[in-house]
Amino acid sequence: MMKIKKLNDFNFKGKIAIIRVDFNVPLDENLRITDSTRIDLGIKSIDHVISNGGKCIIMSHLGRPKGNGYEKDYSLKNILKYLSRKLNKDVLLIDQYFKDDFSIGGFLNERDVVLLENLRFYSEEKENDLNFAKKLASMADIYVNNAFGTCHRAHASTNSIIKFSKNYCIGDLVNDELNNINKVLFDENKPFTAILGGAKVSDKINVIEKLIDLVDNIIIGGAMANTFIKSKGGNIGKSLFEEDNISVANSLIRKAEKQNVKIYLPEDLVCSKSIDDFNTKIFNSYDLPDEYSGFDVGYKSINTFKEVIKRSKKIIWNGPMGVFEIDAFSKGTFEICNSVTEATKKGAFSLVGGGDSVSAVKKNNKENNISFISTGGGALLEYISNGTLPSLELLNN
Ligand code: AMP
Repeated sequence: MMKIKKLNDFNFKGKIAIIRVDFNVPLDENLRITDSTRIDLGIKSIDHVISNGGKCIIMSHLGRPKGNGYEKDYSLKNILKYLSRKLNKDVLLIDQYFKDDFSIGGFLNERDVVLLENLRFYSEEKENDLNFAKKLASMADIYVNNAFGTCHRAHASTNSIIKFSKNYCIGDLVNDELNNINKVLFDENKPFTAILGGAKVSDKINVIEKLIDLVDNIIIGGAMANTFIKSKGGNIGKSLFEEDNISVANSLIRKAEKQNVKIYLPEDLVCSKSIDDFNTKIFNSYDLPDEYSGFDVGYKSINTFKEVIKRSKKIIWNGPMGVFEIDAFSKGTFEICNSVTEATKKGAFSLVGGGDSVSAVKKNNKENNISFISTGGGALLEYISNGTLPSLELLNN
């Protein structure tokens, strides 16, 4: 990680920077931005380049277009006005940039900013196509990766482009992410507690395995916990779980025991007969009636989890404690959110990452009470698991 270059290692005066950002913001049915955080966080690096007298080409993906050309719903035109307002200058949207005769260098003046149309309108982007990457790299003098959330993907604009760029570095957002993730993982402060939730154990096996080497406590909630409870012989009724991962859950429990890491599973669950039945009952999580499913952690679990979080000096949280999108099953997630913010106020360092946990924090208006909100979901988990990400590896050369 030591060799990776930062914005400050370059003089951008008169130079063209091509910056990979993550402006994949949510849009409503009228194609208006509903949460501008990703754009807001990307502005600083663009400002850095243009205030240095540089010229900026910005590139991003937006949504999931088919990859065979323009689709109105996924056009970056939808964010152009907002971006221009934030930068306080007109930004030009450029399409057709993959054509043979396309060249941009001559048209850009110092401090100009242009935005390339959605990279994923070209299938070559996700295919990590060498010609596409070469074309992107050829437009600029310096490549800047400022899209942490996509650093785990080998796409043309995050991966192969580096092979064709003479100069490259990370932007301020990626730099902040790395500093804060390394801080939560490796600072000496203890106890260190990881809170993991969501539906799938399969996505999180590697990360749990790695965290067992680093943390004192692991709190597991969400449907993920059901697989662990089942592996301990509990009756989880009709609750969601992963049959294929029962033995994995069991071996993770044994690894944690060996290393004196405490795994906290829910003692009780808020249950109902189906997800749209709000006639809820609380049952012992190891003894659900056959016709019931657990959709959230219960009061006893919340209290135990809160005690653990309260004592923690470092906290990392990824994944909801239940089906938090539905009010009747959201209490566990919101109580955990409160508890993490309380611990933070008392001096703990907290890092929250992953779409669902971040949206729970935002719904609760607690963004300012968390030490660091990561923009990475998959990227965050993969970075923790492997200590690096494919794009960062290339940028490190
Ligand atoms: P993941 O993508 O694995 O992080 O899972 C996130 C999803 O898990 C959210 O949409 C939650 O609604 C869902 N989830 C959390 N707990 C449960 C549960 N007990 N039963 C069913 N779905 C759940």
